Amino acid sequence: MTFLTESEPARGIALDVLPGIRRVVARNPSVMTYFGTNTYLISGDDGLTVIDPGPDDDQHVQDVLKAAAAEPVARLVLTHTHSDHLGATAKLQAATGARVYGYRHSAKAEFEPDVKLDDGDIVAGFTAVHTPGHAADHLSFAYDVAGIGAILFSGDHVMSWSSSIVSPPDGDMVAYYKSLELLLARHEAIYLSGHGPLLRQPRDLVRQLLSHRQRREATILAALQAGQSSVAELAEHLYHKTDYRLKIAAQRNVLAHLLKLAHEGRVVQLEPDDDVSAEPVINEDLPPEDAKSTKPAIVAMFLHDGARRFAVAA
Ligand SMILES: [Zn+2]
Repeated sequence: MTFLTESEPARGIALDVLPGIRRVVARNPSVMTYFGTNTYLISGDDGLTVIDPGPDDDQHVQDVLKAAAAEPVARLVLTHTHSDHLGATAKLQAATGARVYGYRHSAKAEFEPDVKLDDGDIVAGFTAVHTPGHAADHLSFAYDVAGIGAILFSGDHVMSWSSSIVSPPDGDMVAYYKSLELLLARHEAIYLSGHGPLLRQPRDLVRQLLSHRQRREATILAALQAGQSSVAELAEHLYHKTDYRLKIAAQRNVLAHLLKLAHEGRVVQLEPDDDVSAEPVINEDLPPEDAKSTKPAIVAMFLHDGARRFAVAA
């Protein structure tokens, strides 16, 4: 796949992206977040719209407030509630008084947006597009830029630098495919993603992401036919990751594929027959550095879900 790279962005300042649009890159770089979460600042008639406040980091909150400078923050908008996007929301809201906009069904029990958005809702020129898959409450936002045309804030659904993790049960591979197909039917010329640089001709990448997943799915079915059955075996076979964090991410993706195939009646789960637990949720800020410092709950989930066994349906 043709992913983009960029050199490390300057820290602590707003970088120009497009006319009227700047980004502050949060200081949370990792194998899951690239150089960090992009917090976008968009100038409008009533002040700034901030898309994705970013991680819970006081320095980042200060960076965003400094970048806003004299412009009032009119609203805080979330693409989804993973902590590297939601974390700074409370502090930015306390500092600015701005209302928080997000999908009407928050995936985080402890968070509710002030303004609940549905697919197709329009706020200050931003059209919400529900794009679940990476996260159940994921919204992308279409927006017209004068002199450029329609662009899409694509969050972590489509990122310029990497494919997205789909971690069940909040992450859902059936929904992810549908949300990619949804974008293929749209016509935005530029995507601004939650991590990484600006993406031009974005549907080329969307097509590649979709065919990449279809190939993975075919490989999983072939491996099951050949006698492999556990999620851990399949993840090892498909991904060959050595970094512990990426190993966990790979296993979540394989599990997501298998649950999609089971949903379609093409595979059956042999054992155990319990459902995938909703906790702990794996997203960009998890798992930590290595096996030793990984939370026991994450390790337990990794082992439990790794031992799940599937077979091709008769
Ligand atoms: Zn993210």
